[in-house]
Amino acid sequence: MIDVDVVVVGAGVTGLTAAVRLQQAGREVVVLEARDRVGGRLLTETVDGVRLEIGGQWVSPDQTALLAMAGELGLTTYPRYRDGDSVYIGRDGIRRTFRGDAFPVPEATAAEIKRVAEELDRLASRMDPLVPWEHPDAAHLDQMSFAAWLAAQTDDPEARDNIALYVGPAMLTKPPHTFSALSAVLMAASAGGFHHLLDADFILDRRIAGGLQEVPLRLAARLGDAVHLATPVGHVAWTPSGATVGDYRARHVVLAVPPTLVNRIQFTPALPPVQAQMRQHQSFGLVIKLHITYETPFWRSSGLSGTAFSPYALVHEAYDNTNEDLPADPRGILVGFVSDTKADALLELDAPTRREKVLESLAAYYGPQARHPVAYYESPWQADEWTAGAFGTSFDIGSLTRYGRHLRTPVGPLTFASSDVAGQGFQHVDGAIRMGEAVAGALLRN
Ligand code: FAD
Repeated sequence: MIDVDVVVVGAGVTGLTAAVRLQQAGREVVVLEARDRVGGRLLTETVDGVRLEIGGQWVSPDQTALLAMAGELGLTTYPRYRDGDSVYIGRDGIRRTFRGDAFPVPEATAAEIKRVAEELDRLASRMDPLVPWEHPDAAHLDQMSFAAWLAAQTDDPEARDNIALYVGPAMLTKPPHTFSALSAVLMAASAGGFHHLLDADFILDRRIAGGLQEVPLRLAARLGDAVHLATPVGHVAWTPSGATVGDYRARHVVLAVPPTLVNRIQFTPALPPVQAQMRQHQSFGLVIKLHITYETPFWRSSGLSGTAFSPYALVHEAYDNTNEDLPADPRGILVGFVSDTKADALLELDAPTRREKVLESLAAYYGPQARHPVAYYESPWQADEWTAGAFGTSFDIGSLTRYGRHLRTPVGPLTFASSDVAGQGFQHVDGAIRMGEAVAGALLRN
């Protein structure tokens, strides 16, 4: 048995940030990671000769914890390509181009979108995303689905579908009837307001040169042989004063894994029942991130930015994802997303049919050239046993107020952290860094 101060389970950004901060303060730390790589939901990989960001990739200006960490690790950023017109396909099935963040919808619909968005901003401004259950309207908002809340706000279906898009398919990646209005407000508050979710130029502002996985790779390099890969943790034995994990005995264990995967670990003694109950009410959303590579970024020559949206299309959002940090590469890359029930339906099809459907959806935005890529890739997070969904986990209706206060409560020597339990930066890398630093700070004060 090897004695250490802290065992960290999981070498995602949360676990690696916690481990680096603890080690910098002189603590003896080991990180046990199930996969044969670090980074968890961040993976930058070359597939069919194209460098892809298979997991997370974008950074927004308010993600100051991530920007500071990138700076500390010597990483630089570059802006997402966005010059030109964006495309929107409306409820009438007509394709229209536009500039800015207001979709080209009928005037009355635009007014309704603005009004409902302002109401969401008002609700978010009264929420501390670390404690959403303390919102003045928490009980009421958590008891109704976001779809029901939207239906009560406006009779305009296209306004509802657009507002729903920003929180449902694009963020929590669940249908809006399956999560509460309070969870929707949390998503907005955690990103600094609903107006940020509406603004793709803000929320998807920049990328990290070399790919976002550089963050966990460089953190892990600092930890050296304290990181043990291919070491899944299946059992944790604990007492009030310490715990045993595999070959290690520690004063503290940080479980830096998504809540859904905490439930797969056996604890002796078992965790308090409320912990297991709570995590049965948290689940991953489902989104398929698609990378489609072309000989050139052909859409640019017809004046398009590559940005495209439609609540009514299979691919509900798409962007120019060309690797601007590799200027010698002439190829153009589009990234697109198929979410929640559309993803369920897509996954029922065989691979060639899926590809055909996705290319058909892209052709509706960019024209027939979109049907002829040189490479096509679907991120497979839902089939990966060490994630099993994307982008993150969220509560079902009513559970944020019922269980939220237990989210970050330690149990004896055990502490729980991941971007899924963050306030600011919830479900994002920024939140993972904030959680890692908060956990390390709490253990150092202990
Ligand atoms: P994880 O990255 O999930 O790390 C947990 C680690 O624990 C994993 O390495 C896992 O293998 C390991 N593990 C699990 N169980 C065990 C066990 N029993 N024993 C040992 N190890 C275990 N965020 C952004 O900020 N910007 C984006 O553009 C963005 N886009 C995304 C796109 C996709 C497709 C996905 C999937 C996510 C995206 N995200 C984005 C979210 C972001 O990637 C995550 O919020 C963040 O990386 C989570 O970090 P984490 O360390 O909390 O969890």
